[in-house]
Amino acid sequence: MNQESFNAFKMAQSQFDKVAEILELDTGTRELLRNPIREYHFSIPIRLDDGTVKVFRGFRVQHNDARGPGKGGIRFHPQETIDTVRALAMWMTWKCSVVNIPLGGGKGGVICDPHNLTDREQEQICRGWVRQISQDVGPLIDVPAPDVMTNAQHMLWMLDEFEVIHGAKFPGFITGKPVGMGGSLGRTEATGYGVVYTIREALKELKINPEYTRASVQGFGNVAHYAIELYQQLGGKVICVSCWDQADKTSYSFKKEDGIDLNALLNITDQFGGIQKDKASDLGYEILDGEAWIEQDVDILIPAAIENQITCDNVHKISDKVKIIAEGANGPTTPEADTEIEKRKIFNIPDFLANAGGVVCSYFEQVQSNMNYFWEKDEVLEKLDIKMTSAFKAVSDLAKKKNLYMRDAAYVIAINRVAQACKDRGWA
Ligand code: NAD
Repeated sequence: MNQESFNAFKMAQSQFDKVAEILELDTGTRELLRNPIREYHFSIPIRLDDGTVKVFRGFRVQHNDARGPGKGGIRFHPQETIDTVRALAMWMTWKCSVVNIPLGGGKGGVICDPHNLTDREQEQICRGWVRQISQDVGPLIDVPAPDVMTNAQHMLWMLDEFEVIHGAKFPGFITGKPVGMGGSLGRTEATGYGVVYTIREALKELKINPEYTRASVQGFGNVAHYAIELYQQLGGKVICVSCWDQADKTSYSFKKEDGIDLNALLNITDQFGGIQKDKASDLGYEILDGEAWIEQDVDILIPAAIENQITCDNVHKISDKVKIIAEGANGPTTPEADTEIEKRKIFNIPDFLANAGGVVCSYFEQVQSNMNYFWEKDEVLEKLDIKMTSAFKAVSDLAKKKNLYMRDAAYVIAINRVAQACKDRGWA
């Protein structure tokens, strides 16, 4: 499947349809859950620094809120599409459900490229996004968070605009805020660490000592960074990472057979997770093509960049040595490639389980904001570990008991909980 024909929403719906069959859901429930309950499309006019006005397209999709207020990030991306946002909103519903937190699914985006925008222009986009949708989001309605190319500063600008409009303080409106301004300690690490908590549990089940494992990672942004950090603390070795090169408009992989030096690479990485090739080369890294990360002889693959990366065109390149694929990114594997991975009996930890650490910590941030009492980092990470581990075990136990693929088992648990909440409310 090439990039043009790839449609993340169709993929999310086809994953849902497969599980709806397993669960024998009735027609009404299927109709309700395979589409977003609400979506908003709007224009955000911004005066650029050169004095001209440019109009950006913004979205917010609320997939389902039967289990609680919507929750999900806001992405800034030049290739953002409404169908990607719809898919991501649906995956958020399943993600909150699989880790059993009382939140629904939402996602937002703006078609823009922060690489080409000054801080002031980005602030205007953040404030403009909130102005367009301020009545339809909020602590008890739908709670945004950071995602690709947005960060704590963007969240604070959005919070400030929301509070100006509503004339009061609403720290629970948004998560991923800076620590000291309502943010939770541990949020930055949460998604990447969460990925590794699930890898650790999968390795236990496979009776493999992490110290004897090697991994290859796609992406070198927030998720990849902290996944690598914790995986290395467990004794694992990362031999390859890849990232997008903005200047060349292509991706590259960076390989070091005896293991990458995370801090040295971070020192030569820009704020968007792009590694400088010439400096990496000086540090002794082999610079390979963007897909090289997938064909390494490693035990664990961690796609942690963007969607649609493991496809029928490259799935055959995955080495026979690979035992675990932990999906740090959302939707990195197409359904065709997924079938192949299932056939090959590779232990797949599906995206909405593997990368749920971010939303679990966002939930903790809301809880702490509401109490106005903030936990120490160790306490946050300990609670995160407990949530991720128990969600992983529930999925893995069901997979074994019913002989299901891990992705299907995770969906069965997640969709069943949401379908039940819709039924209990009388929606379906
Ligand atoms: P980020 O913007 O910090 O980093 C993205 C990384 O991917 C960068 O290193 C970039 O260079 C790289 N990249 C982009 N396109 C690429 C390509 N074609 N090939 C190789 N590398 C490429 O983003 P992030 O926050 O780390 O998020 C990564 C993924 O994880 C996304 O799918 C996101 O939706 C998902 N996710 C993020 C969080 C979170 O808390 N940040 C939570 C859940 C899921």
